[in-house]
Amino acid sequence: MKVREHAGFGTRCIHAGQVPDPSTGAIITPIYQTSTYVQDALGVHKGYEYARTQNPTRSALEGNLASIEGGNAAFAFASGMAATSAVMTLLTAGDHVVATDNLYGGTYRLFERVLRKSQLDFTYADTSRLGELERAIRPNTRLVFLETPTNPMLAITDLAGACAIAHGHGIPVAVDNTFASPYVQRPIEFGADLVVHSTTKFLNGHSDSVGGAVIAVRDDHIEWLRFVQNAAGAILGPMDAWLVLRGTKTLPLRMARHNENAMALAGYLAAHPKVAAVHYPGLPSHPQHALAARQMRGFGGLIAFRLGSLERARTLLNGVRLMALAESLGGVETLISHPSTMTHASVPPDERQRLGITDDLVRISAGIEDLEDLQEDLAQALDLV
Ligand SMILES: *Cc1c(COP(=O)(O)O)cnc(C)c1O
Repeated sequence: MKVREHAGFGTRCIHAGQVPDPSTGAIITPIYQTSTYVQDALGVHKGYEYARTQNPTRSALEGNLASIEGGNAAFAFASGMAATSAVMTLLTAGDHVVATDNLYGGTYRLFERVLRKSQLDFTYADTSRLGELERAIRPNTRLVFLETPTNPMLAITDLAGACAIAHGHGIPVAVDNTFASPYVQRPIEFGADLVVHSTTKFLNGHSDSVGGAVIAVRDDHIEWLRFVQNAAGAILGPMDAWLVLRGTKTLPLRMARHNENAMALAGYLAAHPKVAAVHYPGLPSHPQHALAARQMRGFGGLIAFRLGSLERARTLLNGVRLMALAESLGGVETLISHPSTMTHASVPPDERQRLGITDDLVRISAGIEDLEDLQEDLAQALDLV
């Protein structure tokens, strides 16, 4: 069971990084729940010394993620935020970063509240306009950090265009690909140097694990990330590595259904008289619909829409029965949330307004349930509005 380099995406999701367990032939990589490894003699071991440094379950996941994102190596971390933190250790005091202005709220908080203390500087630009990205670059810019589609506004950045601009200045590009997943979009194919994931979302896909990963291309990045994963130690545990490995096996099937359900729900909402606006890259009304169609396979599982007031949003959020009112996204079950008071509460109010994260905005992470049931649930909750 050796997966070939050129095997299809679905085949690599199932097989890459994994071989039958050498001691028993178990087809599934075991959960190596161990802290250390017995050495045969002084200085003679099997490549495993201490489980912060190496763990076979984690290695299998890392091999799998590197393959499906099209990178040369992957490193699994305790959370998406730990993965992003590891990427930021490539920088030193005085360095400047240009980041997408509608970043995941936790990433914005990490940059502003934690990393500024270490003299890193950040400029947030609307990277869906490449001119704004270019204008934000300074002589000391050492990283471009992109998120596309953004959360929750679902703005799209032209990855090939952004990478060409950054590389023209000798600046590497990192992309948070959590919202899309490698089924929908593979940033490395458009020139990105680093991809970060919250595996908590679509990669694991079953709402039962918190984790993160960095996928890298360049040898210097790989060498540093391998060092820092061990030196700083924010590793993914073996149980979680196993859960994500299980999750990626069905990623293509799940993503196809997430795409399909989200597209249908977005269309339903757009036609509903009580809905003021729908933000979904799959709708022709989305300002970057054509770009999304070129860059993505399907348009992802996330939808944002406006109901006109906080009261109306509250009625809908409290009225749904099948959809669960919860933070997070990317699980098999449909989640509904209120960005301004939930996921984006840590973004200052005036910044939220500027980004369009108004109090009437509702976000749906479309799960893989039967579409008719999701639509019926939305219909009955919208009736209450
Ligand atoms: C959830 C999320 C993160 C953070 O991941 P955790 O696993 O919660 O630490 C980062 N970026 C995006 C886009 C996310 O959705």
